[in-house]
Amino acid sequence: MSDGLRIRLDRTICDGFGVCAKHAPEYFSLDDWGYASLIGDGTVPEKDRDAVMRALLDCPVHAIIYMGEHRPSDDGTPAHGDTEAAEPEPKSEDNEAVWGFVR
Ligand code: SF4
Repeated sequence: MSDGLRIRLDRTICDGFGVCAKHAPEYFSLDDWGYASLIGDGTVPEKDRDAVMRALLDCPVHAIIYMGEHRPSDDGTPAHGDTEAAEPEPKSEDNEAVWGFVR
């Protein structure tokens, strides 16, 4: 079960619109010119998901990037990348029947 989500902010894309800080001020701060910085390490607990997702979706230049779900492992350290689907096996002569191709 997910324990929130992970995001990152690409400051090279940020255009200083300030929408993110309006939606989720606990996660985004703005400098004097309105450019955003991420507060914290990008881990967003479930309770703040809606506000941060709204910031992500409303960012006009898509500078806020969804990095996946946050799933703490048994020892309490965050596990990353465990939500990605496995790569499909490439088609070869050995697994041709599995793919349903007939010559
Ligand atoms: S909404 Fe996007 S462009 Fe605007 S300040 Fe936040 S990250 Fe930057």
